[in-house]
Amino acid sequence: MNIILLGGTGSIGTLSLELIDEFNYNLLGVSLGTDTCKSLEIVKKFKPEYICVRKEEDKAIFKDYVKNIFVGNTGLDELASIKCDILINALSGSVGLKPTISALKAKNDIALANKESLVMAGDIVMDLARKENVKIYPVDSEHSAIWQCLNGEDNKTIKKLYITASGGAFRDKKREELVDVTVTDALNHPNWKMGKKITIDSATMMNKGFEVIEAHHLFGVSYENIKPIMHKESIVHSLVLFNDSNMKALLAPISMKEPILYALNKGSRVKYDNGFNLTTLHFKNISFKRFPCLKYAIEAGKKGGIMPTVLQAANEAAVELFLNGKIKFLDIEEIVYQELKKTKNFKPSLEDIIRVNEEVKNRVIGGRL
Ligand code: MG
Repeated sequence: MNIILLGGTGSIGTLSLELIDEFNYNLLGVSLGTDTCKSLEIVKKFKPEYICVRKEEDKAIFKDYVKNIFVGNTGLDELASIKCDILINALSGSVGLKPTISALKAKNDIALANKESLVMAGDIVMDLARKENVKIYPVDSEHSAIWQCLNGEDNKTIKKLYITASGGAFRDKKREELVDVTVTDALNHPNWKMGKKITIDSATMMNKGFEVIEAHHLFGVSYENIKPIMHKESIVHSLVLFNDSNMKALLAPISMKEPILYALNKGSRVKYDNGFNLTTLHFKNISFKRFPCLKYAIEAGKKGGIMPTVLQAANEAAVELFLNGKIKFLDIEEIVYQELKKTKNFKPSLEDIIRVNEEVKNRVIGGRL
C-alpha cells in the first residue's frame, strides 16, 4: 500500500507512522512540521520518495536523504497530487483544506482526519469527491464508528446519529469555574492524548460541534437528526438509531489506531490486537448553556453558506491566542460568537472560503501574535 501522509509529525501522523511500520506499508510521501529532529528520524526510517517541508531553508537538512522536496503550502498541494493508494490528511486546522481539494482532483482516496476541510467547505469537498469518483474515509473516531455501524445498511433508514463526547478537560466544572482556567488546565484531557488545538476544542466542546457538521456532510443526515451526547468513558465511539427502533453502537479502545487502520484499509478489517477493557458506560445530555460553542457550531452548520467557515476561522485564531496566553479561556467562545454575529451569510465559492478564512483569522488575531 502506497501512502502519502500529510501532517507526519502531529499526533495522528505519529500513530499513522507506527501503523505503517507495523504493517510494512510504503510511505511514499510525507509532510513534516517544525520539529526537524523528529522529521529527520522519519525520513531516515521510512525513506519516502517525496517530502514537504515548511520553509525553503529546511531543504538543506533533508537533501541527502530525499530526492523530491516540496516547500510550504503550495508544496502540500503538490504532495497531495502525487498518485497513491490512499492519502492521510492529518493536518491540523484550515491549512488542510486546499490539500484535500488537490488530492480529490488527483483522484486520490483520502483517509480524512482534518475535520476543518469538511467544516469549512463540506458541500464543495463532497461534491468534488462525487464528481471525481473518489472516496473520503473518516479517521475521526466518531465518524469511523458511524461508518462501521452503517456497514450493510441503507442510509435512508437512519433515524438519528448519536455522536459521543468525552466532555474534555472541564466536563465536571461549572461555567463560573472556567473564568481563570489556564492553558495547562485546558490541555489536561481526561481520556485522550492529542494535539493542542483539538484538545482545546474538546474543552470548549467546539470539537463536537465540528463533528456534527462533519457527520452531516459525510452521511447526508440533517442537523435535526444528529445529536451529540456526553459519554465520559469514550468506549462507545458513536451510535446509530434506525427507523425500526433498533440501535447500533460501535465500541472500541480509547485509541485512534483502530479508526486509522480501518480507513487505510477502506473499510476492511485487518487483524490487530490492541487490548480492550469493557467498563460501566454512562450517557447524558449536553447543555448548550454550559457549552455554547456546541450551539454556535450547530447553528452555523444549519445556516450553511459562509457561516461554518467563519466559525472555524474565528475559533482557530481564538485558540491560537489562548494557547499563547493572549486571551482567557472564555474569550474563545465570545470571539466566535461576535464573528458569527457580524457576518452576512452568502453561498461561497472555494476562493471565497479561502479568502474569508484569512480575513477572519487576521481580524481576530489583530496583531496580537
Ligand atoms: Mg473525534
